[in-house]
Amino acid sequence: MEPPSAGNLDMIELLDEIRAMITERGPITVEQFMQLALAHPDLGYYMNRDPFGATGDFTTAPEISQMFGELIGLWAAEVWSSMGSPDPVRLVELGPGRGTLISDALRAARIVPAFRNALDVRLIESSPALATMQHELLVDCGVAVSWAQTLKEVPNGPAIVIGNEFLDALPVRQFVRVSGQWRERTVRLNNDGALVFDVAGRPEPYIRAAAANGEVLEVSPSGHRLMFELGARLVKQGGAALIIDYGHAVTRYGDTLQALRAHRYVDPLAAPGDCDLTTHVDFAAMARSATATGAAVYGPVDQGDFLRAIGIDLRTKALAERASPDRAEEFERARARLVGKGQGEMGALFKAMAVADRRLRPPPGFQPNTKSA
Ligand code: SAH
Repeated sequence: MEPPSAGNLDMIELLDEIRAMITERGPITVEQFMQLALAHPDLGYYMNRDPFGATGDFTTAPEISQMFGELIGLWAAEVWSSMGSPDPVRLVELGPGRGTLISDALRAARIVPAFRNALDVRLIESSPALATMQHELLVDCGVAVSWAQTLKEVPNGPAIVIGNEFLDALPVRQFVRVSGQWRERTVRLNNDGALVFDVAGRPEPYIRAAAANGEVLEVSPSGHRLMFELGARLVKQGGAALIIDYGHAVTRYGDTLQALRAHRYVDPLAAPGDCDLTTHVDFAAMARSATATGAAVYGPVDQGDFLRAIGIDLRTKALAERASPDRAEEFERARARLVGKGQGEMGALFKAMAVADRRLRPPPGFQPNTKSA
């Protein structure tokens, strides 16, 4: 028999731990399952690996092209100037992954030296493995960078916050409409000891929405908490946040929990800790929480429209002109993948939303918000 790889060993251990937990205490909620699978301190998916890129499980926009982080760096510089150029300014990234976005952003920010000199970069990262990787990438970047586990730990003061594919990694609660009532979706063991979905025996009478039987309602408690925290901070201390993720602009029903392993969809319950688990972000719900704090919310707009509005076409052209024909072709392909709205392209699937201090003008790439003036 082949010896199991380290990855498989981790998976078996976490699956065993979850089985033992359910045997002892009964079914767990989908939220608890996601939390364990992604963020278990030792065996969670993000805790001890590099999930990105061609050899990993999935690819993100900053990994597709340097242009993504560069444009966001220039976006941040412009927001900073609209804030009155505070020095210092916190530049916070939520879930930086390999650190590629922030590294590209800081390089692009060299053309605005006063901004770069004012920067106090704070990376919010729960995974020790990824924090180490970020550290290695940024060690010579020439800007002060430090790490924290939560936004709360970032010292007071004006801030610009970036989060790409962060919200989709936060655990959600799911409710299923059964016989005219909402019941929380759970995970239990079947007779073979495999994990299967179920629903809780007790209904949730406080959810007022009505829906057809079989519909699924997803709620992200930690997403809402983050939006409240962000909004309140920006209103009080100034600044803006840019949230980019895949999801829908309008709240709708549906089970969006998905698992990716080696760029393929797999059963979300089959290998906890060994595949990426995400859900689609409900931008309307996130916007409601941010708005409730008194912050201004802009968008969501399609990622493709946002990137074009902040100059991806010009940037592609400039880079392509200075590159070899092969490299030039690569920049063009990356541009198409980031802004295109067809199958397999990210331009419409992904959305950008900004949360900001009301006193600021609309951030670059967003129209004035007429709804909630
Ligand atoms: N922004 C990166 C990575 C996205 S993956 C990119 O676009 O490539 C999600 C990232 O968020 C990972 O770095 C993961 O370790 C981190 N993360 C997930 N949940 C977190 C939490 N609750 N607190 C802090 N970081 C978290």
